[in-house]
Amino acid sequence: MIKREKVTAFALVALDVPLKKLFAYALTGPIPAVGSRVLVPFGPRRISGVVLELRDDAADFKGTPKAILAVLDDLPPLPAETLQLCQFVAHYYHYPIGAVIAAALPKVFRSPTVFREPAPSLVYFAEDVAELLQQIPSRAPAQRRVAAHLAVPHTPAALRRLHDSAWRWVKVWHEQGWLQSALEAKVLAKASDNLALNAEQSQVLTELTGARGFAPFLLYGITGSGKTEVYLQTIAQVLARGLQVLVLIPEINLTPQLEGRFRARFPGVPMAALHSGLNDTERAVNWLSALRGEAKIVLGTRLAVFTPLPQLGMIIVDEEHDPSFKQQEGLRYSARDVAVYRARQAKVPIVLGSATPSIESWANAKAKRYRMLTLSERAVPGAVLPKITLLPVKNVGLVDGLHVMALAAMHAALDRGEQVLIFLNRRGFSPVLQCGECGWMACCTHCSARLVLHLKERRLRCHHCGYEQAITPACPDCGNHDLKPVGQGTQRMEESLPLHFPGKKILRIDRDSTSKKGELDAALAQVHSGEVDIVIGTQMLAKGHDFDLLTTVVVLNADTGLYSVDFRAEERLFALLTQVAGRAGRRELPGEVFIQTAFSDHPFYHQLLARDFAPFADRTLHERQMMLLPPANAWALFRADAPELEQALSALAQIRACIAPEPHLLLNQPVAATMLKKAGVERAQLLIAAQSKVQLQAVLDEALPTIAALKLPKVRWSLDVDPIEV
Ligand code: ADP
Ligand code: ZN
Ligand code: ZN
Repeated sequence: MIKREKVTAFALVALDVPLKKLFAYALTGPIPAVGSRVLVPFGPRRISGVVLELRDDAADFKGTPKAILAVLDDLPPLPAETLQLCQFVAHYYHYPIGAVIAAALPKVFRSPTVFREPAPSLVYFAEDVAELLQQIPSRAPAQRRVAAHLAVPHTPAALRRLHDSAWRWVKVWHEQGWLQSALEAKVLAKASDNLALNAEQSQVLTELTGARGFAPFLLYGITGSGKTEVYLQTIAQVLARGLQVLVLIPEINLTPQLEGRFRARFPGVPMAALHSGLNDTERAVNWLSALRGEAKIVLGTRLAVFTPLPQLGMIIVDEEHDPSFKQQEGLRYSARDVAVYRARQAKVPIVLGSATPSIESWANAKAKRYRMLTLSERAVPGAVLPKITLLPVKNVGLVDGLHVMALAAMHAALDRGEQVLIFLNRRGFSPVLQCGECGWMACCTHCSARLVLHLKERRLRCHHCGYEQAITPACPDCGNHDLKPVGQGTQRMEESLPLHFPGKKILRIDRDSTSKKGELDAALAQVHSGEVDIVIGTQMLAKGHDFDLLTTVVVLNADTGLYSVDFRAEERLFALLTQVAGRAGRRELPGEVFIQTAFSDHPFYHQLLARDFAPFADRTLHERQMMLLPPANAWALFRADAPELEQALSALAQIRACIAPEPHLLLNQPVAATMLKKAGVERAQLLIAAQSKVQLQAVLDEALPTIAALKLPKVRWSLDVDPIEV
């Protein structure tokens, strides 16, 4: 801090308020550096903000600025690069800078109180989780659940959050020698060695490690082609140059297994995980260690893209196509796109990896803006891609939702001692409860959606707004008592399967069965250990998990993605089915995938069966170019919700009137959202499409000040730049 001279100084502070401006405050004490966190009065409140600029006079600002109350030095001043990244995001997504900075910071630094970093505590971990699990009987599932977590280091506080008794058990296991303890930064897990790379992998490694400066790569590698192995060996070389690496992954992929794989490869290298499984303090501690340059690897989800990294040397975005990289509320940013901007800003290479790249990245690679690297074979010698078979279900009698061929294949796999996955992306017992007499269906009173029957809990639940009610005993329209569940959900499958597979251990893994912390990891550990024969899983299970014994996958109800109003639905379905199929036969055992479909003639399935994403991506990109859909042009979507649809539509009409028509700018009419009503409000949207992102930004820059000044009572509106759901 610089001692203040005679001049009256002012600070322009970014505050987390919904106004697109900075706020002037007088400096009466020491002058904070730009990027400092300060405490200021705001109306009747005291809130914290970040200094973005220092000035000698505040002439442009109305009134007499109030004084800054305190400089909070629990946070070192944010580096200029981070502030500039936030400025870019604020501008590109048209969101207030103060709110962007607030979103980029760990929660503790958004509050007006001072954060006290806790003294480093010992962490506990198992060098060999499998060995630990062998010590714990299967009739102690809670203990096994905790044990499965110890693949990654846990503090006593984190353990207590897993289970009330977890800390007690861990002390015992530690005494018995099944666990190790160390200061977090000094964790030395059982090291895993580099694998000898195959020719393709070596070539990719050479390309990645040879890159200097801003160099975007699209790593297109089939599932199991050894992308992660290449990341690890690339990271090793970046670390050897004394630099930090940022690795972004979809939330659902950050399992203890993956974190453990990273820690094992780099024992003793300080690593910061940043994801929603951590509490606010842990997040802040990890984030600070990255900012100070201590953590060399940051492994995190979407939000980690903002982490200040003074020695950033490379960015990796795994599963870059994953929709979870796009935040769908508040600051609607794409962490993948922000990561690319950041790599350019920091002049470092960035790798976007996927077996099914987004069409956006595909287009960038085709246009040579990204360099495409390919891994076309499975890395484990002898492992081949699973065979895919379509099972047409039109006019075919199904047995509890399963095709007889699927049943036969399941029996055969189980007889060989292998595991089976039934992929059914629909939790609950059945998605519809219907009256057999008059056709009435149970619907949510707050949403344009049906209620899902959860038979175990004897409840009807809305999966959109969380509303739930007891099961209706009779049809409210005709009084008929015979209400029928229609369609398959995971619970129903779980209930009917034992009839066909007596004595087999069946495990359901979906959001309901894993809602408590640690349950997912425990379930995964059960699958890994081989105690489970049949897994029934939703999307949660599609990604990232590597089950050695799993050879056979049956996909039910795949068709929902075809014939959708969303032009990205097929792209998503291809990615999802590829990932699901990728679960089968990852090692020596050959895999087989059965897809039950009512549309086996659909061209989509022909391309899926061809097992080659490239022709699908080429065709899709061509279609987008013909039909002027993104990435062939740039979209922005205004959304509005209100008690009545009319109000939302009229607000959007007013917004539309603020946008000056231009040639090549497509200004649609406001329309009702596909799902009109959600959580009690009615929703509408207005799409604008421009020829390029530059043109789109110019249009928005010009129109938004006028739009912001509109009086739109009862209406909440938002802007989504590059929307991925329309
Ligand atoms: P991806 O990230 O592309 O899905 P992974 O890196 O997870 O692929 O590799 C898939 C499997 O292949 C893992 O079990 C991994 O240990 C193994 N593997 C990766 N590279 C090699 C290699 N060069 N030789 C042998 N096995 C490998
Ligand atoms: Zn009825
Ligand atoms: Zn609802």
